Amino acid sequence: MPINVNQETCIGCGACAAVCPQTFQLNEEGKSQVVNQDDVECAKRAAEGCPVQAISVD
Ligand code: SF4
Repeated sequence: MPINVNQETCIGCGACAAVCPQTFQLNEEGKSQVVNQDDVECAKRAAEGCPVQAISVD
């Protein structure tokens, strides 16, 4: 899975879900969850915008 969110690090700010709603959704714990691996380019932009560097894109 190239797109990953570190659940320990994520603070649930929702920025990634705002940038790439097709890729990230906040789960019931208020953490970002990867729901689709298709848009790697968008995920890279979201990773740059994540305030705690919780997103990794291989
Ligand atoms: S931008 Fe980062 S901290 Fe914010 S919800 Fe997404 S993964 Fe979590």
